[in-house]
Amino acid sequence: MGEFDIASYVSRIEANRSVKDALMQSLRTRRPPYRVSVTDLTNLKQAYFRRKHPDIVPPLEKQQLMWAGTGFHRMFGAAVSSEEYLEQFVEADGVVGKVDIFDEIPVEVKTTSTPVDAEDILQRRPAYLEQLGMYCAMVDSHEGEIIIYQRQVEESPWVSPLLVYHIAFPDLEKVRSEMRRRRDLLLQALISNDPSNLPACPWFNRQCDYSRVCDCQTTSVKASYEIAGLAGEIYVDGRTRQQLLEKMAAPQPSQVFRINDIVFPRKAYLERVKPQEALPTKEVREEQEDYLRSIDERGFLDALRDSLRYGAPGEVQRIPVQQAALTDMVRVWQDRPTILRDPKFSSLVERERLPRTFPHYFLRLGFECALTGHSRGRLMTYYVKVPKEDAKLMVYDVRFRSLDAIRVEALRRIGLLEKAEGAGTLPRCPSWMCSYCDYGAECGPA
Ligand code: SF4
Ligand code: SF4
Repeated sequence: MGEFDIASYVSRIEANRSVKDALMQSLRTRRPPYRVSVTDLTNLKQAYFRRKHPDIVPPLEKQQLMWAGTGFHRMFGAAVSSEEYLEQFVEADGVVGKVDIFDEIPVEVKTTSTPVDAEDILQRRPAYLEQLGMYCAMVDSHEGEIIIYQRQVEESPWVSPLLVYHIAFPDLEKVRSEMRRRRDLLLQALISNDPSNLPACPWFNRQCDYSRVCDCQTTSVKASYEIAGLAGEIYVDGRTRQQLLEKMAAPQPSQVFRINDIVFPRKAYLERVKPQEALPTKEVREEQEDYLRSIDERGFLDALRDSLRYGAPGEVQRIPVQQAALTDMVRVWQDRPTILRDPKFSSLVERERLPRTFPHYFLRLGFECALTGHSRGRLMTYYVKVPKEDAKLMVYDVRFRSLDAIRVEALRRIGLLEKAEGAGTLPRCPSWMCSYCDYGAECGPA
């Protein structure tokens, strides 16, 4: 079978000037100086130093642990819930956050290798309650759950792997007011370059990347847990725990793929068979860096990402896609699947040449359109290296012909990935990627 040429399925590309102008305008006028996350509000000092010292990054080892955590959350989430409830972005009062599972009530999933005493979550893990309390306040739910997955450790092999706590927050307004207080404290510190009023982080004594710049040795505001203190009834939810254990025990698909995997099937395959030798993929890295940093630090591109993620009410939908072993969410913005990319070119690519220059953008958008039944999608390109501010962003409306054929190709790629016993049978990535890829030796010739 010849190579699938997505360019031949693109029937029309139109630059959409009015959407571009409206976006630029809204970002210019609406841009807050800083966007604060729930995680920031649980560790104000660290949030401050993370912004003031973007040069300090967690050592690779720690980053990999964080990434491993992300993988677990996703696997666990997929086993016990469904895609449309996982990783929900929420925003209120200038604070943003990501709830692990949000169906009827917010659910936070935590993993730990230090056993937790079932009766003692408020004392032992107040930070978990703080976070949940904030999510409850943001989505206006008086109840939430914390699921703790305890990895088995040799000294205590009999620890139950799963604990579920049901927690009530009777006074959400008090939670909100404490959130606003912390948010303003952080913003004030950032503006005045003075972190001395920020409380030290709860893990004060443990190893911290910012300890060499942090003033916590000399300032004395102690960590506090006002939000955890606002929790009402807390009970261990044995029924939900049992249901979760049953769901986890049920047969899971042996492999789950995402749309990114069928755009770059060779890479996806090699990453699965040789994960330990590979650096984490760009997609995972993007997730970690994510929206949780301030807009000032990240610039216009990330503000744009945020506005596609949150949008005005009703503007953004996340549509679950489930096809064979593929499960993912497609972001639909203003009724079209929409992707935002940042080519590293220093001049704009002409419209007609886009599909040949960036076939992976069009594959991605084509798959998203075909899998959700939209004949039109939207590609936004933001050229960071283009000097003129107004010329950096382009918004294109892309119309595809024969959605069925694109869908068939998506399914074919899923099938190939499921059966693959070597990279050679899988479609190659765009050739420019190979020079940046660690899998050259395993991948073999074209
Ligand atoms: S050194 Fe301590 S207080 Fe400062 S950021 Fe790190 S953990 Fe927080
Ligand atoms: S070497 Fe090239 S084709 Fe092979 S996985 Fe890497 S980027 Fe893809």
